Amino acid sequence: MIKDGPMAENDDSVALATEGARNENTLRFLKSGARGLYIGGRFVPSLSGKTFETVNPANERRLAMVAEGGEADIDAAVAAARKAFDRGPWPRMRPAERAKVLNRLADLVQAHAEELAEIDTLDSGLMITVTRAGAGGIADSLRDAASWANKVEGETYPTGPDNFSFSLREPLGVCGIIIPWNGPAVLAARKPGIALAVGNTVVLKPAEQTPLSALRLAELISESGFPEGVINIVTGFGVGAGSALANHRDVDAISFTGSASVGKEIVKASSENFKKVMLELGGKSPHIIFADVDLEKAVPNAAMGVFRNHGQMCFAGSRVFVQRDIYAEFAAEFARYAAAMKVASPWDTAASIGPLVSAAQHERVTGYVDLGVREGARLAAGGKRNDGKGYYVNPTVFCNVNNSMRIAREEIFGPVASLIAFDTEEDAIRQGNDTVYGLGSGIWTRDVSRAIRVARQLRAGNVWINGYGMRNEMAPFGGYKHSGIGREGGKYSVEFYSEMKSVFVTI
Ligand code: NAP
Ligand code: MG
Repeated sequence: MIKDGPMAENDDSVALATEGARNENTLRFLKSGARGLYIGGRFVPSLSGKTFETVNPANERRLAMVAEGGEADIDAAVAAARKAFDRGPWPRMRPAERAKVLNRLADLVQAHAEELAEIDTLDSGLMITVTRAGAGGIADSLRDAASWANKVEGETYPTGPDNFSFSLREPLGVCGIIIPWNGPAVLAARKPGIALAVGNTVVLKPAEQTPLSALRLAELISESGFPEGVINIVTGFGVGAGSALANHRDVDAISFTGSASVGKEIVKASSENFKKVMLELGGKSPHIIFADVDLEKAVPNAAMGVFRNHGQMCFAGSRVFVQRDIYAEFAAEFARYAAAMKVASPWDTAASIGPLVSAAQHERVTGYVDLGVREGARLAAGGKRNDGKGYYVNPTVFCNVNNSMRIAREEIFGPVASLIAFDTEEDAIRQGNDTVYGLGSGIWTRDVSRAIRVARQLRAGNVWINGYGMRNEMAPFGGYKHSGIGREGGKYSVEFYSEMKSVFVTI
């Protein structure tokens, strides 16, 4: 562990930057100085010696300096993961032994959940209520992943009497995992879970805006008993660490969560050695509200479907389609709900909207608010930028939006909802599907037959009926069209993180 080096923060600056955090371990972690990369079971500085700062989006103060991994560090991390896969014990262990190590990590994460939540709130600006719920669920995800270690199954095939034929499912190799900033600890722990249970080794690249919880997780990983090199964590930038990982010839698979534009780069890079690729990308998800609904339930649910995580959600229901008969009433209620949402510090447990993750996102989102006004949509709530400290944007509602406007076509990734009218069921399906994306979708109606009919016709990887955004570790998660390639969750992750081999025996 690198401690108290020249880059260590002084206690006063940490105290100011971490305003709101209460857990002693959170403060100890941040005061212990520059954070290194986690490679081959050790914390090391980057080979270039370069570092970058990560800031608290609520007060714009520097939280810590973090090692900036580049191509040479990725080489070292991939070499460690390669060695652990080719010659180390991990892929060869009994499944129950691998499960035991993952369960030990789950126990540690559970014991330190509050700290991980506080670190994420400091680093990302997400509400402490949200990061707490997220961190509280990580242990369950890891235990769930551990339970797959002994379910890496093959099959036998019917043959004639002088033959025997079966298949073996085996771990894939070195898996590169690249994640964004909108659920840092949850993504850093959950994405590698099943990959590890199957027997793979991993190099993880967290987002540059939120590297800290992954590094705290690395400390917990090092206490859990993983053999060295099984998990490696390289902080750094997308172009640099991320691109070197995606391009690396010794990496067998890339699992990427992030934007569609970077997803394209990942696919191009994968052609270098035909890596297996899983992409979880963005969306512009339709949330369809039929006229027969109970507004008291549908309005808050549709609002949270887009405003949760301050709108920084891949499956945000950012296009709310409302049947024309109730459009005016629904829009008025929705705008009132948005205007009443408390925008405040992420430590305020009564608030629901905190700062966006970075100055760049604040610029981008407020740029879309200006664009919506220029495109002729009616601003019914919000729209204010914050001129003080912190990257806050009020929940913003645009009415009279046309599905061809840019605010209805492009992913904004902030608290901005577009309310669009529709006439018939067919019209809702046509407009809902009129997007390049296909990640989430929602339907509100009391008519079960209609709900099922519409669910069948929406071209999206998730359909939520009368409640938005639920997830289940066993269910396939992923997107149609530009929202991604592949599915994760339960057996779908086992399939992705494994190779299959057919064996033929002459008897
Ligand atoms: P992003 O810019 O695509 O970044 C995602 C990750 O990729 C970051 O770690 C980033 O590093 C890295 N990266 C950037 N350029 C790269 C390159 N050329 N090669 C390899 N890696 C590269 O996305 P974001 O703005 O951080 O996150 C928001 C996006 O994620 C949205 O589109 C959202 O919908 C999507 N998302 C999808 C899901 C899902 O499950 N479908 C979940 C959450 C978010 P840096 O941090 O240095 O940029
Ligand atoms: Mg940060």
